[in-house]
Amino acid sequence: MNQKDIQNIVKKQKDFFLTNQTKAYSFRIAQLKKLKLAIENNEELLLKALYDDLKKSKFEAYGGEIGFVMAELDYTIKKLKKWMKDKKVSTPILHQPGTSYIINEPLGCVLIIGPWNYPFQLLFAPLIGAIAAGNTVILKSSELAPKSSAAMYKIISETFKEEYVTLIEGEIQEATYLLQENFDYIFFTGSTNVGKIVMEAAAKNLTPLTLELGGKSPCIVDKATNLKVTARRIVWGKFFNAGQTCIAPDYLIVQKDVKIDLIRLIKKEIENFYGENPQESKDYPRIINERHFDRLVSYFDDKKIAMGGVIDKNDKYIAPTIMDNVNWDDNVMQDEIFGPILPVLEYGNIKEAIDIINAHPKPLALYLFSNSKLVEERVLENTSSGGVCINDTLSHITTNYLPFGGVGNSGMGDYHGIYSFQTFSHRKSVMKKNISIDPPIRYAPYKLSVKNLKKMLKFIG
Ligand code: NAD
Repeated sequence: MNQKDIQNIVKKQKDFFLTNQTKAYSFRIAQLKKLKLAIENNEELLLKALYDDLKKSKFEAYGGEIGFVMAELDYTIKKLKKWMKDKKVSTPILHQPGTSYIINEPLGCVLIIGPWNYPFQLLFAPLIGAIAAGNTVILKSSELAPKSSAAMYKIISETFKEEYVTLIEGEIQEATYLLQENFDYIFFTGSTNVGKIVMEAAAKNLTPLTLELGGKSPCIVDKATNLKVTARRIVWGKFFNAGQTCIAPDYLIVQKDVKIDLIRLIKKEIENFYGENPQESKDYPRIINERHFDRLVSYFDDKKIAMGGVIDKNDKYIAPTIMDNVNWDDNVMQDEIFGPILPVLEYGNIKEAIDIINAHPKPLALYLFSNSKLVEERVLENTSSGGVCINDTLSHITTNYLPFGGVGNSGMGDYHGIYSFQTFSHRKSVMKKNISIDPPIRYAPYKLSVKNLKKMLKFIG
């Protein structure tokens, strides 16, 4: 798509927004229901596309993408009326008689840019919030998951008019054209590096934005835990989507005394999950493309591979791999891994683990396996991360009740449930005053001394 076409679409959406049609509750709810129906009608198409792009099993494709979006849709449809209500707040005595309230106002024309790893979930979950909040929406899918992108294009173009919601397929060029437009909000999910480009572009128009980025999410394993269940939950969270999950545990940091046992149990669980040869498992996905395949293989260090390390480039297959005795100078620790490689580091006491985490950029997720309340408190109080999940992996983002987002290098802003609605709304403050009473005290020439002003403000403030 060329720049002129993109400019035209943005213009059409801005004009449509000004007709006010997107604002009524009846309109928003009807669009959410239409979207739900369209997804239901295209479920098979989506499942096939996700398999073609990433060899996602139907279970992972439904559980991690379609089912996730449907749950978000159902919840939003149920709650929208309540969320849209103006919120009455108190009015100080100083402004009596008067009333104050907050209106959740749509922002206008918003841009949502998505990545390839959960191509459907990460574009459509924010879309639900943007529609619920009464905006027009331009979606930009990732070029690296082309089948999913085509399926989403079909759903969007068959369901919505271009001036309301449209999906632009394309590469970096199209994204660059889009970022030159003056949007009312930008919601970006992707890498930290591209996040910086997006923020720079947004700054030119002072466009507010959400950045859902990535990074290295640590997983601390304290010796006071059920190691067997811990191993199973780590294997699930790490190798779901072959590790190509922004909140996957990037590396383990394990208390010395239990490291050998934990690695043994993790190996066993990998076999339980995917069999002796995971390449033959129908449940084990593939790496998205050759570039990422080569990047991941470059992290291997034969001396440190404790399990896996098997690859097949033609199949973009990398076996679930554990690397032991890893330190921060190793290649695998330089960047977010975003693949099925699990480095294991060790610590003595919890302070060491906390210090290691604090010496690196704030992660998107932090995992802790421990039965100790004290350890839990110390980790929560002394570290900062987008979210924390204690005694499990990934689960903290699969609820409508918790906001999902990063902090520092892992992003800014959040969404899911009401937080999506709030992200795509402007909280407009309204104060309405009575005009029949007008005490002259605040008007010049001022008669009140500062001393009396202080007294008065203390009383009525
Ligand atoms: P990416 O940053 O390469 O691409 C994301 C999107 O940005 C794509 O649509 C792409 O077309 C576009 N893009 C790429 N280069 C661009 C440029 N120069 N200018 C403008 N747009 C550009 O990310 P990715 O490889 O698709 O996804 C992987 C990254 O995303 C990982 O770092 C991962 O942690 C992160 N991620 C974060 C979340 C989250 O919710 N926080 C979720 C999934 C992935």
